[in-house]
Amino acid sequence: MKLYNTLTREKEEFVPVNEGEVKMYSCGPTVYNYFHIGNARPFIIFDTLRKYFEYKGYKVKFVQNFTDIDDKMIENANGQGIDVKKLADKFINEYFTDAEGLGIEAADVHPKATETIGDIIRFVKKLVEKGFAYEASGDVYFNTSKLDRYGKLSGQNLEELEAGARVDVGEKKKNPADFTLWKAQKPGEPAWDSPWGKGRPGWHIECSVMANKYLGETIDIHSGGQDLIFPHHENEIAQSESANGKPFARYWLHNGFLNVDNQKMSKSLGNFFTVRDISKHFDYEVIRFFMLTAHYRSPINFSSDQLQQAKNGLDRIYNFLDNLNYLKDNTQDREFLENEKAVLKTIGDLKNKFLAAMDDDINTADAVASIFEMVRQGNTKLSGSSSKKMVIQIEKTVKELCGVLNIAQKQSSSKLDDEVEALIEKRQQARKDKNYKLADEIRDQLKSMDIELQDTPQGVKWKKV
Ligand code: AMP
Ligand code: ZN
Repeated sequence: MKLYNTLTREKEEFVPVNEGEVKMYSCGPTVYNYFHIGNARPFIIFDTLRKYFEYKGYKVKFVQNFTDIDDKMIENANGQGIDVKKLADKFINEYFTDAEGLGIEAADVHPKATETIGDIIRFVKKLVEKGFAYEASGDVYFNTSKLDRYGKLSGQNLEELEAGARVDVGEKKKNPADFTLWKAQKPGEPAWDSPWGKGRPGWHIECSVMANKYLGETIDIHSGGQDLIFPHHENEIAQSESANGKPFARYWLHNGFLNVDNQKMSKSLGNFFTVRDISKHFDYEVIRFFMLTAHYRSPINFSSDQLQQAKNGLDRIYNFLDNLNYLKDNTQDREFLENEKAVLKTIGDLKNKFLAAMDDDINTADAVASIFEMVRQGNTKLSGSSSKKMVIQIEKTVKELCGVLNIAQKQSSSKLDDEVEALIEKRQQARKDKNYKLADEIRDQLKSMDIELQDTPQGVKWKKV
C-alpha cells in the first residue's frame, strides 16, 4: 500500500514500525462549537483509512485529541458566561453525535488537553533540561535556533521562517520563530500549577505529548488538514524529536481543503456550515459519501448541488441493493451459465480495481467509481432468469466494498418493510393473546430500530423517525 508522505513529498510504500500494527494519531477539533463541514473531511478520511487498514488485517491503534483549552475556548466560554469545562463537555458530546451519524468510529483514545497537564509539564521540563526550551517571565518557549532542520515538513529554512514570524506584544522570545510551550496565566484565565508558575499549555505541545503517551516515541501515521503542516505539525516534530532523540512520525498525511461555492469558508462571508446544520437537510450518510467521492488530497468544493449529486449516487447504490434483494427471492437455484461466469469475472476485476485504488494513497474517488461500475454491470446483466447464486455473489461483493467505506449500510427499504411488518403482526398477536409483556418488548425492539408506531382506527401505522 502506498501513501503520500508530506515529509518526503513522495508516495511511499507503507511499512509500519511493528509488523501488522498501525499507530495513528490525528489532530482533533477544538471544542468550542459544532464541527463544520471542513473539519468533517479529515475526520471522515482518516476514519476510512483506519477502516481500510483493519480490512487488510492490521491491528490499528488510533488516537484523536480534543483541544479543550486555548484562546478560542476561553473567548467563547467568556462570551457565553459559562466556564471552559462546561463549553468543552457540551461540544465533545455534540462531536460524538455528529461523528456517529457520519459513520466515524470513536478513536481508541480521545485524550483531552486538560486531562494531560501532568504529562505536558513533564515533557516541557525535559525540553528545558535538554536545552531546547527556555523560560521567560512565566512563559516557556521552544528555541528553534537549537535545531538544524526546523522547517523540514513545510520545506522552509529558518531564515525564511524568521522573516515571516510575528512576535506578539508581551512575548519574550529569543528568536522570532520560537513558539510557546507553556503560557503564563493572564487575569481570569483557567490555569494549572507548574514549575514556571500558574499557566496553561500551548497548542502544539498537547499533540506531541498525547501521541507519545498513547502510541510511543515513534508512530506510523500522523494526519490532519493541510493548514496544520505549518506551524502545528512542524512544531510537533521539533518538540517530539528534540525530547526523544528519535523520528516522530514516519508518514505525514494531509487532506486538502474544503471550499464552499469555490470560496474559503468563513463566518464573515456567510458561507459557514456546521455538519449539524447540513444534517437537517441531507442524511449524514450523504455527507460521508460526498467526501469519499473526491481524492482526499485534492481541494473539494462543497455546495448543495454537489450534495444532491452525492445523494443521487448513494440512492443508485441503495436501489441496486433493493433490486438484488428482490432478485434473490425471484431467481432460479442453478449453476452458472458461461456468460454468467464472465459477469462474475468482471465483478472480480472491479473488486481488484477498488482495492488497487485504495492501495494507491487511499484513492476513494476511484474506489467509488468501481462500485458504480459494479452497479451498472449488475443492472444491465441481471434479470429474473439469472442464477440466484450469481445474485448472491454480486450482493456479497458490493456489500463488502461498501462496508470498507462504511456507506450504504442502512437496511434496504424493502427488507426493512418486511421485517417491520412481521414484527407488527407478531405484536398484534401478542396483544390478542393478552401477552402484554411480549407486546411491549416488540414495541421496544421497533423503537431501537427507529420505528415509531401509532395505533389508529385503521390499524397500526408506522414510520421511520
Ligand atoms: P480545528 O478544530 O480548526 O483545529 O480543525 C480540526 C481539523 O479540521 C484539522 O485537521 C484541520 O486541518 C481541519 N480543517 C479545518 N478547516 C478545514 C477545511 N476547510 N477543509 C479541510 N479541513 C479542514
Ligand atoms: Zn495536533
